[in-house]
Formats: sequence, structure tokens, C-alpha cells
Amino acid sequence: MSRELPPTAGLPLRLTDLRPGRAPFAAQVAAWLGVESLQLECSGTAAMVVALRAMHRLRPQRDEVIVPAWTCPLVAWAIHRAGLRLRLCDLAPNHYDMDREQLAALGGERTLAIVPTHLAGRVADVSAAIDVGRHVGAYVLEDAAQALGAQHEGRSLGLAGDAGFFSLAVGKGLTLFEGGLLLTRDVALREAFQVSHRDTIQRSRGMDWQRALELIGYALVYRPSLLSLAYGRPLRKALAENDPVAAVGDDFGPDIPLHTVTHWRQAVGSRALQRLPAFLDVTRQQALRRVAHLRELPGVTVFDDAPGQRGVWPFLLLTLPSEAARDATLEKLWTAGLGVSRLFIHALPDYGYLRDIVTDSPLPRARDFAARSLTITNSPWLDDATFASIVNTLRQTLEQRHTSPQR
Ligand SMILES: *Cc1c(COP(=O)(O)O)cnc(C)c1O
Repeated sequence: MSRELPPTAGLPLRLTDLRPGRAPFAAQVAAWLGVESLQLECSGTAAMVVALRAMHRLRPQRDEVIVPAWTCPLVAWAIHRAGLRLRLCDLAPNHYDMDREQLAALGGERTLAIVPTHLAGRVADVSAAIDVGRHVGAYVLEDAAQALGAQHEGRSLGLAGDAGFFSLAVGKGLTLFEGGLLLTRDVALREAFQVSHRDTIQRSRGMDWQRALELIGYALVYRPSLLSLAYGRPLRKALAENDPVAAVGDDFGPDIPLHTVTHWRQAVGSRALQRLPAFLDVTRQQALRRVAHLRELPGVTVFDDAPGQRGVWPFLLLTLPSEAARDATLEKLWTAGLGVSRLFIHALPDYGYLRDIVTDSPLPRARDFAARSLTITNSPWLDDATFASIVNTLRQTLEQRHTSPQR
């Protein structure tokens, strides 16, 4: 079977991680992040449901949540599941951050929470959300699903706003197959999150078994020699069927599992956690070198750290000058097994399955970002020579677009 690279730098598990045991996983992650405490949930989405329900109980007259229009569709389902309404904010030009002016215009007396979103391990603009949140009396909930371990001004993400959450899903770095961690520096919110957990989350033996088997499956299959089985083949099949949403695993339904996480999965996570800091260092060094190469390509934007930011690097997020150039690049690279892919396929209103819960509106920049962006894995399995070949393909497509008439 041919080699297949994962689209993101997940931390591989060792078979010895799977031995029986128990561990105070959330407390260990909290100690590593330098935060007081973390609340463990069964997914990032579940963490968001628990947090929003708690916030809604504290400010029941507010029922709207502002999110960037280009984000994970699970965010939309989480808001819906919490009984709240989505308000979509368009993006800043050629950026994943929410547009400041539109954000200010959207905030009001019905705004319960604003969700700045740290995509691709990068540090998002939380200050705009804090300004608006203070002004209108809304919470700021940082979506750091893709950014566990990232820091701003030497502190973990999730501490600038009122609360934040991380995902431990497959593909986001450290994984329990599915998991989430909820963070708040606010004592009242912390208590409210615990109450919300008790009201919302139940033990499920069926899910305990399912997730245990899935985690074992991940430990076995997450390697280039076997990944075409679990990742490459379904991807190519979905693309052959013209279904990019399924190809990137964006095809989510409304049913959000809300259950506890077994001691055993926490023990597995705790063992893997010991290797995470070193893994993040290696992937950072690799990413910084590669960002410098990508920078040289004309018209390409690569997202990296500004001064004071120290993100993490699951993959590199790029925009190309045009949708045509992006599509021509993916034509060559998406099915090549090299870990080149897309993040979210659409702006939220363009997912057919969200039609009933998301109102459509003109979101030119979110749609533009969806059309021009792509991702390159930052897995250590992508060696320098193969990365150079990806850069070459990018350069060739960009040059072709340059010399041939625009289509
Ligand atoms: C993955 C993701 C989530 C949801 O996290 P899960 O652990 O998969 O439920 C939320 N927001 C963003 C930006 C994500 O990438």
C-alpha cells in the first residue's frame, strides 16, 4: 500500500500508551499550560455546549452567539444544541479573523457570546471581541479547538476572553480520539460550567466502548503505511464523487454526543501528553523553516505568528491569489497523499445541512477565504524533499496563472 500523510500533525500514540490505568488528565494538561484548572468534556463541541448553556443560564435574556462566518460547522451545531441563535460575522480581508467593524455592528443587547477563533494553531484577534463584549455585555468564548498549547504574551489562549475551549479530536494534535477541555479564569463561570456539566452530560457505556475502540484504531493506523486505509481512500472516493465536504470530514449532523470520558482514555492521553511539548517544538521548528519558503511565492499569504504570539503548528494555512490558482494546485496535490488539503470547504451558510439554522447573508470575504485557501500538513512525516516538491508545484501553478489568460 502506498504512503499517505495525514493532513495535520497529530501526535502519534504508542502501543504502550494503551495499557490499563487512570490519571488526572485535565489537571496534568492544566499544569502544563500553566492554568488553574480545566474541565474535561467528550469533545470540543460538547465543551462549547456546556459553556454556552452555562452562560445562557447566567444571562437568560441573551440568546445570540456571534461567530466568524468561516469556521467549523460543529460550532453551528453546538450553538443550536444550546438553544441559541447564530449571528455570522464576515472576515477581515484575506484573513480568518472577524471583521472589526462588522463585529461591532452585530453586537447588541441580545448578544450572549462572541467567539473569536484561533484557527490552524494561530493566535486570533481576541481584543476586538473583548471590546465589543464589554461594550454590549456579552461573554467572549475563545474557540481554541485547533490551538492547544498556543500562547499569547506568554499565557495560554483562553485566558484573555471570559472562557475558551480546546479540542482533543483526531487530527488536532493531542487526542483521546474525541475530547475537549474547557478553560475559564472566572470563578463564577467555573462553577456554572460544573453545574452545566452535571445537567448536560451523562455516562454512556456504548460511547465508552466506541471511543475506546476508535482510540485503539487510531494508535494502530496513524502511520504513513496504513493511513491510506482510514484517510486516503475515503478522501479519494469522496472527491471522485464530487463531495469535497465529505472529503475533509466536514459532513456533520445535529446529533452531538454528550457523555463522560473514561479513566482509561484519560490515562492514554496523560501518557501521550508527556511527549507533546517535544513534539510541538519539533513541529514549530519545521513550520518556521517552511513558512519562510512559502513566503517567497508571489501572491501567497501564509499565516504565522506576530510578535507576542507563539502558536502551534498542526498544519500551514495559506491563501493563493485566486480560486483558479488554488483549484489548479489542489488538482495536482489533494489526492497525492502528501497531506495537502483544505480546511473548511464553505462559509457556514453554504453547507446545505445547516440551511435551517444559519441565515444566509452576503459574506464576500468568508466565501473568498473558503475559495482561495488550502492547507499543508506539518506532520514530521512530510520530509524536506517532499515539501520542496509541493512548493515547486505551487510555484508552477502560480506562474502558469501569471502567463496564461485568466479564465
Ligand atoms: C474541531 C473544531 C471544533 C469542534 O471540536 P471537536 O472536538 O471536533 O468537537 C470547534 N471549532 C473549531 C475551529 C474546530 O476546528
